[in-house]
Amino acid sequence: MAECIFCGIIEGNIPAEKVYEDELVTAFKDIHAQAPVHILVIPNQHIPSIQQIGEGDSQLPGRFFSVINQLAQDYGLAERGYRIVNNCGEDGGQTVHHIHFHLLGARHLTWPPG
Ligand code: 5GP
Ligand code: ZN
Repeated sequence: MAECIFCGIIEGNIPAEKVYEDELVTAFKDIHAQAPVHILVIPNQHIPSIQQIGEGDSQLPGRFFSVINQLAQDYGLAERGYRIVNNCGEDGGQTVHHIHFHLLGARHLTWPPG
């Protein structure tokens, strides 16, 4: 998927500040940070949205949350709290069609986001 920005980041063809990677997921800093900590956690495999997660991807959901948990500790968010966001599809406001969880923190976040 050469046209996918996030596949380009995983392949190393598009520069990004990677903060974590393993055989299933990669995490890197969002280019337009909405909070002092704004990290995106994505599957290494191109999956357009959480609607396309299949039975063969059963390891992924657990890995997303264990990596987010670890990053929250590493970035000092665990005590104060933080927000995890997944935008899915057009009404969900998804703009990059490769699954990503936003990890936002280190400022007080209001709700609803609008
Ligand atoms: P979405 O709106 O799809 O949930 O979020 C896409 C996110 O990807 C946005 O927060 C946007 O700033 C981020 N983003 C888009 N292009 C790039 C890029 O080339 N590099 C990085 N690091 N983040 C990107
Ligand atoms: Zn992709």
